[in-house]
Amino acid sequence: MAKRTKITVAYGDGIGPEVMRATLDVLEEAGAPLDYDVIEIGEAAYRKGVTSGIPAEAWGLIRANKVFLKAPVTTPQGGGFKSVNVTVRKALNLFANVRPCKSYSPFVASPHPGMNLVVVRENEEDLYAGIEHRQTAEVTQVLKLVTRPGSESIVRYAFEYARAYGRKKVTCMTKDNIMKLTDGLFRRVFEEVSKEYPDIQAEHQIIDIGTARLAAMPETLDVVVTLNLYGDILSDVAAQVAGSVGLAGSANIGREAAMFEAVHGSAPDIAGKDVANPSGLLTAAAQLLVHVGLPEHAERVKNAWLCTLEDGIHTADIYREGLGDRRVGTRAFAEAVIERLGRKPQQLEPVTYAEGGVTVAVRPTAAVAKALVGVDAFLDWSDAGRDPNALGRRLESIPIPGLRLKMVTNRGVKVYPDGIPETFCTDHWRCRFVGDRVSPPQVVDLLRILGEAGLDVVKTENLYTFDGQPGYSLGQGE
Ligand code: NAD
Repeated sequence: MAKRTKITVAYGDGIGPEVMRATLDVLEEAGAPLDYDVIEIGEAAYRKGVTSGIPAEAWGLIRANKVFLKAPVTTPQGGGFKSVNVTVRKALNLFANVRPCKSYSPFVASPHPGMNLVVVRENEEDLYAGIEHRQTAEVTQVLKLVTRPGSESIVRYAFEYARAYGRKKVTCMTKDNIMKLTDGLFRRVFEEVSKEYPDIQAEHQIIDIGTARLAAMPETLDVVVTLNLYGDILSDVAAQVAGSVGLAGSANIGREAAMFEAVHGSAPDIAGKDVANPSGLLTAAAQLLVHVGLPEHAERVKNAWLCTLEDGIHTADIYREGLGDRRVGTRAFAEAVIERLGRKPQQLEPVTYAEGGVTVAVRPTAAVAKALVGVDAFLDWSDAGRDPNALGRRLESIPIPGLRLKMVTNRGVKVYPDGIPETFCTDHWRCRFVGDRVSPPQVVDLLRILGEAGLDVVKTENLYTFDGQPGYSLGQGE
């Protein structure tokens, strides 16, 4: 008898219980050797004052079982409630978000019949670290963090996924022409790692044109790997372009644990009416079956589901006169899938999945010689009509041992020396000081001296070189 796998299941809110029931019925009839620990998360937990939406005992089960099938949950607006998704993703180190987006034309209306791509999105880093500050009356900032291990994990995952699922090409999308250090690191790692996968075609596209191409010509893409924010947007564009957000499932994969869910939310507008499409959660469950080493069961479920679409048995969200034969509710749709278990679709391509999950190992970061060569001091300053020359001359008049002012920028544009009067200046000034052999106490002295001179330093960033290469963006003319 096949080994049984215990997974954690949450029925969620809104349409969650209906689509979960339908999904579990199909899994059971498909003979998937799964056992379930059912947890209560979301609205019920929020009502009991658990702001994360996940009570402690639920956490225990999620962590113990390591595989989590989650129906959508409602995130209450305001009041300090956190999204269950974001909490689970970050706490369990689920670094990869994998969202297949395929068109099921001609059975489901889609403007792009040939589309069949997967967005692999980095799930933990980038602007989603949530480190934001307001620094002056006019200026707020967010920290964009991109790490080598984080980039390598997701890039390797994308290539391993391509191999495991018989895909031919991985396209990396970044904005490294603008963000040369952060997006530049991601792209560099992509180029390094791609050399280890000569069997997979590798290419890079700038994210803006890449997104436009995905919207206009999605059939030219296969696997797309990208950073967190771009991936968030791109995966929604891809799901929409494919025809129905209601059909898409997604996987959040970590080294230890994984969470599988539909792309859509809890749809409170149609909850309890037996009209919701369970396909998003069902296709996510097929991803789960592959992940836990049950590829044959995944094939059985997915192929029966494809047959159901092909036979024109459709829920209201995808039903169109002429494309569908029968408009059905959630339960009847699940029953139709169950009736077709063991069959393969005739016109849509049947799926086949290989044994073995996707695993990634990241190399240790090489040692590097790091040297402190200066400091960017950011000032909140609005005196003298915000005249950059007045600020520059004032800073130059203050003796600072071992450091000299190199330039002043405002919103990244150099305004001193040699600025031009057309440049708009806000109240946030980056003042770059450099020296020959800078030590950390000199940075402290700089802060003290500027403070005593009546200047408001709102933050500093140390400037380092790594093996002689600047680890900071250069101003014009540097
Ligand atoms: P939604 O995806 O719930 O609904 C958007 C529209 O799509 C609605 O008209 C809905 O009726 C329809 N729809 C969604 N899923 C459907 C399905 N399976 N079958 C048929 N129609 C479907 O998005 P929303 O209204 O922005 O969000 C509702 C709630 O869900 C919010 O509280 C939000 O925070 C939450 N949410 C949860 C998740 C998650 O748990 N993964 C994801 C997104 C949103």
